[in-house]
Amino acid sequence: MKFFLAVIGGGPAGYTAAEKASKAGKDVVLFEQNSLGGTCLNVGCIPTKSLLYGAKQYYNATHAQKYGVTAGDVAFDFGAMQKRKTIVVRKLVAGIKQRLNNEHCTVVNGFAKIKDERRTASGEWLIECNGETYEAENLMICTGSTNFVPPIPGIQDNPAVWDSTDALAASELPKSIVIVGGGVIGMEFATLYHELGVPVTVVEAMPRILPNLDEEVVAVLAEKYRKAGITILTSTKVESIEESGVRTADAEGAKTITAERILVSVGRRANLSGVEALKELELNRGAIVVDDFCKTNLPNVYACGDVTGKIMLAHVASRQAEVAVGRMLKTIPLQRIAYNAIPSVVYTNPEIASVGITEAQAAEMQIETEVRRLPMTYSGRFMAENEGETGLCKMVIDAKNHSVLGVHMIGNPCSEFVSAASFAVRMGYTTAEFEQVVFPHPTVSEILHEML
Ligand code: NAD
Repeated sequence: MKFFLAVIGGGPAGYTAAEKASKAGKDVVLFEQNSLGGTCLNVGCIPTKSLLYGAKQYYNATHAQKYGVTAGDVAFDFGAMQKRKTIVVRKLVAGIKQRLNNEHCTVVNGFAKIKDERRTASGEWLIECNGETYEAENLMICTGSTNFVPPIPGIQDNPAVWDSTDALAASELPKSIVIVGGGVIGMEFATLYHELGVPVTVVEAMPRILPNLDEEVVAVLAEKYRKAGITILTSTKVESIEESGVRTADAEGAKTITAERILVSVGRRANLSGVEALKELELNRGAIVVDDFCKTNLPNVYACGDVTGKIMLAHVASRQAEVAVGRMLKTIPLQRIAYNAIPSVVYTNPEIASVGITEAQAAEMQIETEVRRLPMTYSGRFMAENEGETGLCKMVIDAKNHSVLGVHMIGNPCSEFVSAASFAVRMGYTTAEFEQVVFPHPTVSEILHEML
C-alpha cells in the first residue's frame, strides 16, 4: 500500500497533519496504537479539565456565601465526575475519527514501526503495522511523550505511586496525597484534590513551584494555596518513596510525609518507540531535532509535537503540524512557527495564563524592558465575579521600540483572553498599536487595555 504521507501517532500533531494533508487531496495513512487524540485528549488536557470543572462547581457551591448564596447540603460524586469525563473524551475521540473519515484518511489502529533505516529504491519509507507493510513518500513522526520516572528509590512497582494517567483513571479519591513536582501537572492535580477536600502536600525541588513562570504571578498562587491549607515544600528533594509516603530532604534535614498516594509529576520525555530503525535520525537530549518547518535531518521525514522536545503543549503540536504539512505540500507560503508567541495556561484556581518572555528571561537576554503591573481588581468585571481575590497582570515591554514582549496573568478567567495578548506579541505590536484594539466592557480582558 502506497501513500503520499504516513503519520505515526494520532495526537494533536498527528491528527492535524493527517487531516490537513488529506484535505489537500493527498493519500494519507495515520497509525495510532490507542485512541485517536493522544495524551491531550485521552489522558491529559481534556480529562483533567473535565474533572477540574466538576471540582470547581463543588468548590463554588461551598464558597457561595460571599456572593449572598447559601447552598444546602452540597455533595459530590467522584464516580459521576469520572463518568462524565469519560463521555466527554469519547465524544471528542469520535469527532476526530469522523473528521478523518470525512477526508478519506486511512486510519490504522496498531503499533507502527519503521522497518528500515533507508528508503526503497523508488524513495519510499517502509512502515510495518499489524503484520502489513506500508510505503510512504513522506513520513511524519508524532509519537508524543511519556511520563518521566525519576530514579528515586522505592518508586518502581510501588502500588501507592501514581503518574497522571493513574490519577485520572482512579475510581476513588485518595484520602491524602503527596505530589512530587510542583510543575504544571502537579499544580493542576493539587487544585483538583484540594477543591474536593483531599489533604495535599506538594514537594518541589526548585526554590518555587512553577519555576518556569513569572515569579510574582506564581507568588500570588502560592500564597493563596498555602493559606487555603495546601502544604507546599520548595527546595525540597524526595530521597525515597515508601508505601505510605515519601522521605524528603531540605536544608534543615530529612523528614517523612505520610500519604495514601504519591503522584509523581516531574516532567515528560520524548517517545521514540517505533522509530528505532532510523539510526541516523538526529536527536538532542532524547528528542528529535527539527528545523523551523519541523523537518528532521532525514529526507522527507518530519517530526511534530512532544517528540521534538520543544514546548510540550497540544497547541504547539498542532501548529507544528500545520507548518510541516504546508512545507511538505509547498502550496502554502512558508511560515515559521512563532515560538516566541506561544500562550500557555495553568488550570489552577485562579488560572495562570501567559505568553512571551518574562521579566527574568528578558534580563537574562539583556533586553532593556519596561514592566507594567496592575492588580486584576482594576477590572470591574473581575471585582463583580471574584470576591476576595486579587490577581495580577504584568506586561513586559521592550524599552527601546515599545513592542509587547510578554504578558503574564493570574486571575479568572485569564485563559480565555490570553489569545489577545498572544496576537499582540505575535504581530510585534507596540503599546500604541495594541491600544487601538477595543476590548468589550465589562470583561476582565480590559485589563490588557488598561496597561497600555
Ligand atoms: P513540568 O516540567 O511542568 O514540572 C515538573 C516539576 O517537577 C518542575 O517544577 C521540577 O522542578 C520538579 N521536579 C523535577 N524533579 C523533581 C524531584 N525529584 N522532586 C521534586 N520536584 C522535582 O512537568 P509536568 O508538570 O510533569 O508536565 C509535563 C509536560 O506536560 C509539561 O511540558 C507541561 O507543560 C505539559 N502540560 C501542560 C498543561 C497545560 O498546558 N495546562 C497541563 C499539563 C501538562
